[in-house]
Amino acid sequence: MLSEPSKSRQVFNPAKVGKSNVTIPGANILARARNTETQARAEREMMATVELDTRLSIAYHEAGHAAMVYWRCESLHERRLVLHADRFGGANLVPMYESCKSDLMVLVGGNLAQLLAAGIVPTRPIRKPNEYRQPNGDSTRIRNLVKALRAGKDDRKYQFEVQERCGEIIEAPKMWQAISAIAKKLASDGVITGEECERLFEACGAPRCPQTGSLS
Ligand SMILES: [Zn+2]
Repeated sequence: MLSEPSKSRQVFNPAKVGKSNVTIPGANILARARNTETQARAEREMMATVELDTRLSIAYHEAGHAAMVYWRCESLHERRLVLHADRFGGANLVPMYESCKSDLMVLVGGNLAQLLAAGIVPTRPIRKPNEYRQPNGDSTRIRNLVKALRAGKDDRKYQFEVQERCGEIIEAPKMWQAISAIAKKLASDGVITGEECERLFEACGAPRCPQTGSLS
C-alpha cells in the first residue's frame, strides 16, 4: 500500500524540529515494558525502529532529488540511489548541476520530500546551517545557485517560490506514490537503480514537465 503525504499537517518551525513535537518511534514499546528483561528487549526493538525510520527518512530525501530529475525529463539510466550502511546519510548518483532554475528544483527536492514525508509543510525556504560546512552539502549548493541566478543576491524569497513549485510537483498524488515506493525500496535494500526508479515513476504515472525548453 503506497502512502500519501500525512493528512495531519504540522507547520514547519525550525526551532521545534527534533524537539518536543516529534514523536519518538517505539516510545510506546518502552512504556509497555514491565521489568528489566522486557525493558532491554524493548530498547533493542526501539533502536531497530528508529534505525528503520532514519533510513526511510533519508531514502525519501534521495527519492525527492530523483523525482525532480525525472520530472524535468532527464534520464536516470545508469544512475542509482544508495544509503550508506556504515554512517548517517545517503547519496544519489544522479546528475545535479548548478546553472539554471530546474537545477535548483533538483537540489531543493531532497530536503523538501524528506520534510513532506514527516508530515511537515515548510513555510520558509529550507536551509540547514550545519550543511554549510560541506561544500557539497545541499544548502551550500542551493545558496550558491540562488546567488548565481539572482545577480549575486542570496534571494530566499526566490528560493521559496521555486520550492513551492517543487512542492506542487512532489505532492501530486501519482508523483508522491512513486516517491514513496522508491523510498521504501531504497530503505529496505540500501540501493535502487535509476532504471528501477524510472519504472516506478512510469508505473505510477508520475508527471513530467511538458516543455523542457521553458525550464531555465
Ligand atoms: Zn540531498
